[in-house]
Amino acid sequence: MTLENPAVPYGDAFLRASAPDGRLPDAGMPASEALRLIESEMVLDGIPERNLATFVTTWMEPEAVQVVTDNLARNYIDHAEYPQTAEIEQRCVRMLGDLFHAPGPTTGTRTQGSSEAIMLGALSLKWQWRRRREAAGQAADRPNLVFGADVHVVWEKFCRYFDVEPRIIPLRPDKLTIGPEDVEPHVDEHTIGVAAVLGTTFTGHADDIAGIDALLGRLRAERGLEVPMHVDAASGGFVWPFLHPDTPWDFRLASVRSINVSGHKYGLVYPGLGWLVFRTPEDLPDDLVFYENYLGKRDATFTLNFSTGASMVLAQYYTFVRYGHEGYRGVMEVLQANARRLAERIVATGHFELVGDPGAEQLPLVAFRLKEADRAYDEFDVASQLAAERGWMVPAYTLPPNADHTTIMRVLVKRSLGHSLAETLAADIAQACATLDVKGGLHELDRRRVKTGTGY
Ligand SMILES: *Cc1c(COP(=O)(O)O)cnc(C)c1O
Repeated sequence: MTLENPAVPYGDAFLRASAPDGRLPDAGMPASEALRLIESEMVLDGIPERNLATFVTTWMEPEAVQVVTDNLARNYIDHAEYPQTAEIEQRCVRMLGDLFHAPGPTTGTRTQGSSEAIMLGALSLKWQWRRRREAAGQAADRPNLVFGADVHVVWEKFCRYFDVEPRIIPLRPDKLTIGPEDVEPHVDEHTIGVAAVLGTTFTGHADDIAGIDALLGRLRAERGLEVPMHVDAASGGFVWPFLHPDTPWDFRLASVRSINVSGHKYGLVYPGLGWLVFRTPEDLPDDLVFYENYLGKRDATFTLNFSTGASMVLAQYYTFVRYGHEGYRGVMEVLQANARRLAERIVATGHFELVGDPGAEQLPLVAFRLKEADRAYDEFDVASQLAAERGWMVPAYTLPPNADHTTIMRVLVKRSLGHSLAETLAADIAQACATLDVKGGLHELDRRRVKTGTGY
């Protein structure tokens, strides 16, 4: 860099110099230039509202944004100095416990996202399993965890980080979620738990959670096997209670001991917020809770992180009180209606078919694939054409094993994709196909250079 380079008279220094990199600059720069530098680099990123790959919130109301900006200096973990933030966090936990039909008082915590919540929930399963084994005088070795290949990567990450054998149930091209018949052969006395998904990242459908609960109940009664379930409701936890309230997937089922949900997905808050809720306080092992008094007062913590912002917790409380049950239901109904309309329009182009059972309960998204495999282009081509023509970020990806011969595309319908934009998107998808019909797709060799992602 640069600062030997005098600022150009009509603009900032970075019109002629490259951005600082590799080492801390010797001297600083005016605030306006630093701002301009960062803003000018951000134009290379995608526009969040065109990011239809992500489940994460891309728009909040101005009043919610005010809550966020007003509280940026507040450290969430500093319960002694910010007791009201801690109280508001617990209000949110209690509301979620109630929403998920906890039978009585519950406990839980705010996390950085569902990933941290899943690590903590799965650690609790491991601790409880070890305690049961030791109490029965049995060896607590070789723990395993059972889940389908339709889970998010965090479940395998947990197994590797915390030394648990993953027992992953493969999918089939015609079956993209799991049920009791898939789980049963994998469960034994070393199983710390079963993880089931409410709203998979791949197609937005749910595992047969009630069926798995019935299986675990039978194993308990017939074989004395105590195998609890954790429900990964990262996306579905804010969708099912409002769109499918009569479908039991939560604490209405006896085996469900803990649930995670992402506040920053359909919880409608910007990134940096998840929740872990236990069925009862006893489901959280005491020795995973740490008591410390660094910050002025004896305090209990159950987290992998420590300091973090309070803003998103307060923003979640804002959305809870602002929308209430009725408001969340209204928002989810709109998203569902827009997703259905978009699905119809995409099918009506004649090029695509939907993936999975369109009659099944699903997140507000559209998962689709090209109808004929032998055309001159594939889903990756459609994704890059759509990005080139209109800047839409729609991912193309292959499904997990053993459905990995299937490539699909997926559009998340969020509040930033209103009716007209959804109509425009459908027309843009048809146009991208029309372009590709004329020019064809990329060759295999070129394709490796094209970046696509599944989004999160
Ligand atoms: C997004 C997601 C996760 C990870 O959640 P983060 O909040 O991004 O940490 C885990 N499981 C499922 C099903 C998800 O959709």
